[in-house]
Amino acid sequence: MKAEIIAVGTELLLGQIVNTNAQYLSRELAGMGIDVYYQTVVGDNLGRLKEALRLSSQRADIVILSGGLGPTQDDLTKDAVAEYIGTELHYDRMAMDKLERFFQDRGTPMTENNKRQALAIGGGTPLSNETGLAVGNAVSHEGTHFILLPGPPKELKPMFENEAKPWLLQHVLTDEVPIYSKMLKFAGIGESALDDRLSDLITAQIDPTIALYAKDGEVTVRISTKASSETKAMEKLDQLQAVIQSMVPEHMYADRDVPIEQVIVDMMADRSWTVSAAESCTGGLVMETLTSIPGSASMLLGGVVCYTNEIKQKLVHVPNSLLEGSEAPGAVSAEVAQVLCEQIRMVADSDFGLSVTGVAGPGYAERKPVGLVYVGIAERGKSTEVHELNIKGNRETIRIRATKALLYRLWR
Ligand code: ATP
Ligand code: MG
Repeated sequence: MKAEIIAVGTELLLGQIVNTNAQYLSRELAGMGIDVYYQTVVGDNLGRLKEALRLSSQRADIVILSGGLGPTQDDLTKDAVAEYIGTELHYDRMAMDKLERFFQDRGTPMTENNKRQALAIGGGTPLSNETGLAVGNAVSHEGTHFILLPGPPKELKPMFENEAKPWLLQHVLTDEVPIYSKMLKFAGIGESALDDRLSDLITAQIDPTIALYAKDGEVTVRISTKASSETKAMEKLDQLQAVIQSMVPEHMYADRDVPIEQVIVDMMADRSWTVSAAESCTGGLVMETLTSIPGSASMLLGGVVCYTNEIKQKLVHVPNSLLEGSEAPGAVSAEVAQVLCEQIRMVADSDFGLSVTGVAGPGYAERKPVGLVYVGIAERGKSTEVHELNIKGNRETIRIRATKALLYRLWR
């Protein structure tokens, strides 16, 4: 099966938004064993959109369109597809009911153009929109299957997952053997370093397949295989997982798609352990990351953001001798990271105290390079560990990676 993704929107061509939908869809389709040969971007223009449809139907079995399902004049995707395949548009009853209820609830009259969101393509299957108003569509024409999805990612993703994927499985991929995947999650190691460590395996490995991708300081390794039953697939996947785990034993923190903070919160909650943090360059990101996980209240006591030297002294009792003077190691140092985590742990009376101090950039500080970060972990009754990190990237990347690296050290 060959697929093409057509992202519709002049905003994309102008560089005002990034085509994350194409990335998401490509990844999903790859996971389903469908080859994406082309990604196209086309503006909100009926003629050019029809031209893109004509081209795509010559070279793809499945064409997934994103965007242009909304109510405005420039939302033309359904018109283009209907004209291209020579069918009419009609109002979908369910989508229309939903629209009417939406406007009734808000007490505002529904304008004529809003009805366009309930339009469905003749001969096709409407795909319902859980998180928005515009109905999607799936329609087949002369051997090409067109799937129309809304532009906003928060609408596109659930519609793809819950509506389009089942439709494809039922109508298009009927003869295909299903694909099963497992996500292995790694932290404390970069994508290229992990790729290096696994490179022999990745080169030799044909089934299951191995795919790596990195995001926000974590690397995901997706292993996939086709099999006639889930049991058979899991057997193969578990075997490969064991091999991968033995090659990189220290970095794999989960064999399901969870962020490391989830694993930390679960681990701490399980053992009734508590955590506090004193953060400098991450400005609270460690605590923000942990509090994003439901259930963190049972393990995270709190902490301080001690950005300036003055606040480090006043609130976390870092001695001035460590911070200022020609002999002082300075705020970005292993010594200060150690005091920060030990002090916050004592003040909060938690089982663990965490600290981060570093240079997030863009400029250097204390004559130290951008990306130099120290993370500290103080544990009740144990000696404190401090790790030096040298993180490459911009300010945002450095802050995120420092946070994830600290959580990774805590997990270990
Ligand atoms: P709406 O009902 O919001 O008009 P729509 O289906 O008509 O939705 P568009 O008008 O094309 O979609 O895009 C709406 C918004 O969705 C864009 O402003 C943008 O925020 C987001 N969006 C559209 N296409 C993409 C894309 N390819 N990748 C990421 N985001 C996108
Ligand atoms: Mg729109």
